[in-house]
Amino acid sequence: MRSGQRDEPPAEPGSARAQPGNVGKRRGLTGAPGVPPLIDGWGREIKSLRVSVTDKCNFRCRYCMPAEGLEWLGRDEILSFEEIARLVRVMAAMGVSEVRLTGGEPLVRRQLPELVRTLAPIHGVEDLSLTTNGVLLDRFAGPLVEAGLRRLNVSLDSLSHVRFAEITRRDALDRVLAGLEEAERHPELRPIKINCVAMRGFTETEVPALAELARRKPYVVRFIEFMPLDADESWRGDEVLTGGEVRRIIESRWPLEEIPAKPSSTAQRFRFVDGAGEIGFVNPVSEPFCSSCDRIRLTADGQLRTCLFSRREWDLKRPLKDGSSDSDLADLIRFAVRHKELKHRINEPGFVRASRSMSQIGG
Ligand code: SF4
Repeated sequence: MRSGQRDEPPAEPGSARAQPGNVGKRRGLTGAPGVPPLIDGWGREIKSLRVSVTDKCNFRCRYCMPAEGLEWLGRDEILSFEEIARLVRVMAAMGVSEVRLTGGEPLVRRQLPELVRTLAPIHGVEDLSLTTNGVLLDRFAGPLVEAGLRRLNVSLDSLSHVRFAEITRRDALDRVLAGLEEAERHPELRPIKINCVAMRGFTETEVPALAELARRKPYVVRFIEFMPLDADESWRGDEVLTGGEVRRIIESRWPLEEIPAKPSSTAQRFRFVDGAGEIGFVNPVSEPFCSSCDRIRLTADGQLRTCLFSRREWDLKRPLKDGSSDSDLADLIRFAVRHKELKHRINEPGFVRASRSMSQIGG
């Protein structure tokens, strides 16, 4: 358990820690002047929003969804770009400064660069990024950068064609690597992060090649522990290859040294001692980082989730459609955030899975 994770009761209304002004002062208030920041019931300031723009995906990764896919949301069920932009504007005014676009696979949503173009100039949005499986990146990297995208995460679990196809059920490794090469051509798009889901019995043999990729390419390779968010609901704890284990595999070849990460970062950052690149470990199962969580999520069908493992959601779509004002929306979001979960309970007896699978939440 990383330091700072305690079962602390929510901040008492009126207590110093619960006073939005104080927290803002402590951490440099962003957002619209005079608008209190978004603080949850545990005193954490919410600064990061993950927006799922579609639940559809063109891959069928085994740790995410079945080969036949899932029942997709209909076009009229998902938020329009205008609705997404409005919600981002309302949240940015309350201090949300990081926006990440996710899916399913976000690049299957048509005209996605137009959404980026709308979100990039929103006051308060300081960091706009995208998580993609990379298979359409060769086509979209240029238009996304031109529209204002500045950071990228690409999911990649193997550099072997056979193993890649085994895990994604798609023979698309070359397309993904071509997409990464195209992204490299845009120096504005940095850092380029590679997300590898670490699973016991699969990833051990992939680690050296992926670590070596971080040594020879301008990519930060991060290993993310397998989480119980698969639509098949077949996840077992003993399938998790922990960050510590992956690190030992890497360090058996190349020594690593830890580098500082921002408090709310999900990744522990390391660089090769010989200076040849950076590696990260995202260990939500073996080393939870919920105590510094600053994230909330918006699903493609307009539901606000205050935790990846939420069992409840807050409907923003209906108030959007019913003509609610921005301040009504802000009040609803504040209310939801005040009830944000303290932490996930994966390692606790009686753990109950999230009410949606990963592709329906968006990482
Ligand atoms: S599990 Fe929930 S509380 Fe913990 S870091 Fe993830 S989103 Fe935050």
